[in-house]
Amino acid sequence: MGARLRLRPRARHLGRAGTSASGESDASVLAYAPMSMPPRKSQRAVRAGSLVIGAGAPISVQSMCATPTRDVAASVAQCEALHAAGAGLVRLAVDTARDVEALAEIRTQTRAALVVDLQENYRLAEKVAPHVDKIRYNPGHLHHHERARSIRDKVAQLVQVAGANDCALRVGVNCGSVAPEYDARFPGDSIGAMLECAWDHCEMLDSLGFTRYVVSLKDSDPHKVVEANQRFVERRPDVPLHLGVTEAGLLPGGEIKTRIAFEQLLARGIGDTLRVSLTLPNERKPEEVEIGRAILADVAAGRFRSVPDLSGLNIISCPSCSRVENQSFVELAEKVRELTLYAKDHDVTIAVMGCRVNGPGETDDADLGLWCGPRAVNLKRGGEKLGSFGYDEVLSRVREELDRLIELRQG
Ligand code: SF4
Repeated sequence: MGARLRLRPRARHLGRAGTSASGESDASVLAYAPMSMPPRKSQRAVRAGSLVIGAGAPISVQSMCATPTRDVAASVAQCEALHAAGAGLVRLAVDTARDVEALAEIRTQTRAALVVDLQENYRLAEKVAPHVDKIRYNPGHLHHHERARSIRDKVAQLVQVAGANDCALRVGVNCGSVAPEYDARFPGDSIGAMLECAWDHCEMLDSLGFTRYVVSLKDSDPHKVVEANQRFVERRPDVPLHLGVTEAGLLPGGEIKTRIAFEQLLARGIGDTLRVSLTLPNERKPEEVEIGRAILADVAAGRFRSVPDLSGLNIISCPSCSRVENQSFVELAEKVRELTLYAKDHDVTIAVMGCRVNGPGETDDADLGLWCGPRAVNLKRGGEKLGSFGYDEVLSRVREELDRLIELRQG
């Protein structure tokens, strides 16, 4: 990102211990009580394990494992590290039967409250629900399978499974994977499409008699995150919100983008739990939680640190997770940043994504997009696919394309 961004010096004080549904203090789960925060708008309390989200409950910080879920030892270690850093919930991606087996094992070895992230594979819900406290489903990926079945029918299945397993749900709408019907109904209006999708799913869940859910509306543009969440609560102030700037990317840019959205929303009483999505090597993943806590501490103390100047080169990159197609993804994102520093003053957006779940969609909106495959990286110029290149050859191609883009714009 361009060199015109500044951050005020970081506050060092910590927050109060979170309070579990049973009232005992849980020192490892740090959250921010509303008395130091502007009052929350959401009226519903949603319990996920011992954590309460919404209705004025302390605001919790979440994170997600970037280890392969099937690697039980590595995933348990990351869950424990995130829990120790103060994460109220830790999310794991599950896509296969092998992941399900591993999740069951991880559950028995970690103190962290767990959330499962289901994308296309919502049919695994029944198998994973006994091992988690919350299920996140992406409405934008429910149409891929069982095309003859209605979305409502699939949501009813998720409700039945969550109800039977004492789980909460999250309707996780993401700009990189909005359901096609909403994109078609709101051409060129990604926020309108995300909002309508979220409101429809709220009505579906309510009509199914299930109110134990939270909603997230995530975009890689912090200003869109602010607008989407503000407009959402105008119609549904009762529903707790999970805040996130998706694919915020590498530090320090990723923290600044996140602060631009979170500081504005939290100060307006919007947001009941949050996740800071950063592209970090696995061993540094707890920094997501530390930065989330620091943002809460700053807002609670009335300190606003982000300076909303997003001009210049903007790198969007995902925080990685078990679905990442190649473990050198984070390194690739860092190399793209190093390579493109010479162009920091040019208003160009480059997206670097770890896999095909949000890769294709998120890269469509970028000037240049890279999304990873197991052995090659797919390169795009906007919506146009330029080809697949080896991990050792794609950077030179990115340089060529960026030079060409800058030349074109300088006319
Ligand atoms: S783009 Fe893929 S690898 Fe990256 S966070 Fe999303 S699902 Fe995980």
